[in-house]
Amino acid sequence: MSEDYSCSDIGLDCDWRASSETEGELLRLIGAHFVQVHQITDTPADLVLRVREAIKSKTSKTGSCRGGPS
Ligand SMILES: [Zn+2]
Repeated sequence: MSEDYSCSDIGLDCDWRASSETEGELLRLIGAHFVQVHQITDTPADLVLRVREAIKSKTSKTGSCRGGPS
């Protein structure tokens, strides 16, 4: 299972996307992208939260652990 992220998920006008085996590695890739493309060198905590929620919401959609009421 891999983690996925794209900048449009958090409302950025950007088509960049990334995926990785672990959230930690994905967050590292995203941090580097923020510095290079968005000139965000010091990612604010609330932005990190939004990124992590975006990753989680995608992951849970494809996950099979919770089926939810049918
Ligand atoms: Zn971006």
